[in-house]
Amino acid sequence: MTTVIERLRSGRPVFSVEFFPPRDTEDERVLWASIRDLERLDPAFVSVTYGAGGSSRDRTIRTTGRVATETGLVPMAHLTAVQHPVAELRHVIGWYAAVGVRNILAVRGDPPGDPNGEWVAHPDGLTYAEELVTLVRSLGDFCVGVAAFPYGHPRSPDLDTDTDHLVRKFRAGAEFGIAQLFFQAEDFLRLRDRVAARGCDAVLLPGLMPFTTRRSVAKAVELSGARLPAALAERLEPYADDPPAFRAAGIDVVTELGARLLAEGVAGLHFYTLNRAKATKEVVARLGLAAEPGRRRAA
Ligand code: FAD
Repeated sequence: MTTVIERLRSGRPVFSVEFFPPRDTEDERVLWASIRDLERLDPAFVSVTYGAGGSSRDRTIRTTGRVATETGLVPMAHLTAVQHPVAELRHVIGWYAAVGVRNILAVRGDPPGDPNGEWVAHPDGLTYAEELVTLVRSLGDFCVGVAAFPYGHPRSPDLDTDTDHLVRKFRAGAEFGIAQLFFQAEDFLRLRDRVAARGCDAVLLPGLMPFTTRRSVAKAVELSGARLPAALAERLEPYADDPPAFRAAGIDVVTELGARLLAEGVAGLHFYTLNRAKATKEVVARLGLAAEPGRRRAA
């Protein structure tokens, strides 16, 4: 089974896609239509986020297992330390191994209910993602990735401390990082420079979300933890009441951002798809990242 890092180090730029676990049967139908649609373009890997609680976690595990067993895609499962004793984490990791999932994104997670609330580790659990990286690596031949924050994690006192903590995750055995949403190529490139300045050559993937609606822009602002740059707000503002024109402008913005990042030598672009394929397909096609129909790109 190919690993994420093998695909990222293939020497040619790739794209990857992220989904969240479906909530109901209709969600599941939409998700699988999107997975099949994107499968034709040969994404480097497909990741499924890990939910905050019981049933959503089961759906993550089930969906990732299905990607592993029913598609030709490289699956990556997210895993968090939230409310898990280490024994349970071992069980989930063992289950992933059993269904052929060899790639895990080890993230700490946020307090359930209030993401900004106080983080309290499970009494028999873990406190930081770094420990989860160590645990996953100790349990088998896994390729492990971690989260990275171009503007710094909201709980970090400053960018340097945040970067030190990110680099510790790589030193613990993570091989790549996926960046939270950001708005300007420089924001990501500065993160990459900070990591490189610490002598760390882990692969960093920018995370992008096609801005198809005003809501998606608001979501990106919320997730990034940064303000929408004035120039971008001014560019999109004229289309505020014209959804098709807004969508077209938003896709242009993300395509330009992707092109700039590719010109700066990133290994690939990771798309937060919100479980829809269409916008990601458009951006990927415009950037020349899709496989030719019926042909798989070399690993
Ligand atoms: P950590 O790396 O543990 O960092 C948390 C905070 O602690 C940071 O401020 C960091 O600087 C600090 N810190 C880290 N190590 C140390 C240390 N050794 N000593 C002191 N301080 C330290 N959430 C989900 O619930 N499910 C998902 O599937 C999911 N997927 C994600 C995917 C991506 C690409 C990203 C960017 C985020 C994702 N998240 C997900 C959100 C993530 O769980 C939260 O942002 C969480 O608050 C931080 O996770 P982390 O892995 O960065 O934590």
